[in-house]
Amino acid sequence: TVREAGGDSIVSLSNATHKAINRKSIIEKRLLFALDQQHLKVLYQPQVNIHSGKIDAVEALVRWEDDEIGVVSPDELIPIAEETGLINNIGSFVIEEACKQAAKWHNEGLDLKISINLSVREFRDKNMAKTILETLETTRCPANLIQIEITEKFALEAEAETSIIKQMLKLENEGIVFILDDFGTGYASFRYMQLLPIKILKIDQMFISSLLKSEKTQRLINGMVQFGKSMNLTVLAEGVETKQQQQILKEYGCDAIQGYLISKPVTHDAIRKLIKLPMK
Ligand code: C2E
Ligand code: MG
Ligand code: MG
Ligand code: MG
Repeated sequence: TVREAGGDSIVSLSNATHKAINRKSIIEKRLLFALDQQHLKVLYQPQVNIHSGKIDAVEALVRWEDDEIGVVSPDELIPIAEETGLINNIGSFVIEEACKQAAKWHNEGLDLKISINLSVREFRDKNMAKTILETLETTRCPANLIQIEITEKFALEAEAETSIIKQMLKLENEGIVFILDDFGTGYASFRYMQLLPIKILKIDQMFISSLLKSEKTQRLINGMVQFGKSMNLTVLAEGVETKQQQQILKEYGCDAIQGYLISKPVTHDAIRKLIKLPMK
């Protein structure tokens, strides 16, 4: 009967909710342990100049495989970490790893920029800029080798919080470059373009993946590239998987690409090897 069906769905819904809450608390518990045991890792994905094929930078992406619960993807991990506050610990870890790595490469004569993803929650910490600058110092990493990727959601919230903008300007003043990540998928507020020190526009992979499928998407992407250019920004496209996508992006005037066409995220050793190969 209807009543029974209704009853069932209520039971199964609360079961699903219960499972989700359970999973979250397991992840939280295991994450605390993983952070303590230094079980998190960082992989790097090249960002390549579309004309020269040279690797200009690499994006640091966190990886976690837990002994008990297996691989937890960043798409599951990051939102839970944000909710529980553990994002600050992940952030500190990734920042330190990235600075150490950039400094190490720098000492080997390789000036490769490293991009770090930071969430707005991390910047609510009033000491964020200070912590980053201190890490640069202790690791002896030149500030101009570090880029920070923020999302549109971040940009929108930062706009409302003067202390976040102040911290960004402080970091920019030291030579750190800000990238607007996942461009086009958030909120269409152009006000943050006016307020925030953004140098690179990163077009979201969602657009790139449908680039060849629709003319409308092509016009949209072309428009985004032209917008970036008119704002004197460097335009980077993420999620580039095919030569065809690369070719069209080049025609539009896109400056740099990142994606499986070049390489998946890999270890720092593998990046070292990739540098020695021509990327075109
Ligand atoms: P994102 O910053 O937009 O990173 C791009 C994501 O797309 C990465 O997934 C990358 O592995 C994937 N990707 C790169 N090239 C391709 C491609 O050609 N095709 C496809 N299909 N995918 C591609 P990942 O590593 O799973 O990270 C997902 C998201 O999690 C990131 O999106 C970022 O927002 C967040 N994230 C990752 N690491 C960190 C971190 O250390 N801190 C913070 N706050 N967020 C992070
Ligand atoms: Mg990113
Ligand atoms: Mg992105
Ligand atoms: Mg993305």
